[in-house]
Amino acid sequence: MTILLQVTGLTKQYAEKVVVDEIEFTLEKNTSTALIGPNGAGKTTTLSMLTGLLKPTSGSVKMLDGDLRANIGFLPQYPQFHPWLSALEFTEMAAKLNGVPAKEAKLEAQKTLEFVGLGNDLNKKIATFSGGMKQRLGISQAIVHKPKLLLLDEPVSALDPVGRREVLDLLKGLQQETTILYSTHILNDAEEMTDQLLFLRDGKLVEQGTLREVRQRFDEQNYVVEFSSEKEAKLFANQSELIGEAKGSYVYIEI
Ligand code: ADP
Repeated sequence: MTILLQVTGLTKQYAEKVVVDEIEFTLEKNTSTALIGPNGAGKTTTLSMLTGLLKPTSGSVKMLDGDLRANIGFLPQYPQFHPWLSALEFTEMAAKLNGVPAKEAKLEAQKTLEFVGLGNDLNKKIATFSGGMKQRLGISQAIVHKPKLLLLDEPVSALDPVGRREVLDLLKGLQQETTILYSTHILNDAEEMTDQLLFLRDGKLVEQGTLREVRQRFDEQNYVVEFSSEKEAKLFANQSELIGEAKGSYVYIEI
């Protein structure tokens, strides 16, 4: 396994409040990692520092194979689309902004849109797109320049079950092309496609490892984990040998 990204002591402090607190992790090439934590845990702040949009208070982010800025693709939690543009125009614009030579940008945009399943919608205005289509368009703008690292902030949490399925399948397929780090506050969105889990709580990385490793350690610590539905929460609480209790869509895991 080859390491692509090394994060050391990454910290963000606003006035008195430390919102990301000396987190450390590595990402292996062509793997998928979920950054999991409840709202306010520091996920967006962490991703923003990795993209370079936000300056860390201290710590470092190093790409071991190439220049980080040139090799990153990012889908924010609330992407700004230009609804009057077509999918092709928008993705072509993103390609140029991300350094794809102007004369190749349109063809690359078209190929990328076909890859994300929008091949029949190239010339449709974004204003007419569903939530799932917009999210696939968001992914296309993030991958059109073939980045080595793809960062996605809550890529599926606003989607209905069909859109969620489509986007998760798409991300699964992308893993052969790039290394993925995505945030979610819903554990079972992470499970099926994830090699590594990073649990963030109050700005601290409280747990990291494979799903299996993390589950084995669950009974040693207190956790509150949110699932996408009450049914999923009950299923998880019953299936795992946890001293845990499902309440609504949350599972409370206690020592
Ligand atoms: P998450 O993405 O996990 O929901 P965020 O990274 O958005 O968490 O936020 C983590 C914490 O940092 C929250 O308590 C939030 O209020 C705080 N925070 C985020 N941005 C700022 C800011 N610009 N100034 C002060 N506090 C902030």
